[in-house]
Amino acid sequence: MSVVMRKILIVYLISIAVASCNRDSSKGLKMTEKNNQITEKIFKSDEEWKKILTPEQYRVLREKGTERPGTGIYDNHYEKGTYNCAGCGQELFTSDSKYNAGCGWPSFAEPSDKKVVEEHLDKSYGMIRTEIVCSRCGGHLGHVFNDGPPPKGLRYCINSASLDFRKIK
Ligand code: FE
Repeated sequence: MSVVMRKILIVYLISIAVASCNRDSSKGLKMTEKNNQITEKIFKSDEEWKKILTPEQYRVLREKGTERPGTGIYDNHYEKGTYNCAGCGQELFTSDSKYNAGCGWPSFAEPSDKKVVEEHLDKSYGMIRTEIVCSRCGGHLGHVFNDGPPPKGLRYCINSASLDFRKIK
């Protein structure tokens, strides 16, 4: 299929998806297209987020806060399961990629799927870092650094407050 035909097909599929989601528009669901992929996005007002998140989850996820090192509930947590977004429930990481980086925050070598996180350039606090957010709800998760284990050498340094662990039964 040609690139033009593929783009026409994607626009057509999005229009169907958006039309079928119109009933759910009040719930803040929206289909978007990026890099030829259709993704579901969640949009909520600050007031709506405050109703479903704890004050700490709101501060980290919606205000890009950072929990103090060594204080998060998943820093030294190594049960088998998945770590989902505390804002929208999307699976972000698995226990298989979690490792002890000794930095005071939960650390992962890679996300469950590259589609579930987005990277943003973060120039705050006089540093240049790569911020990681949930691709579905835009919630702030943490940062990714280049000092992780092989083969990828990445350390996804994530706030516990952004995560909701789900044990494998
Ligand atoms: Fe999310």
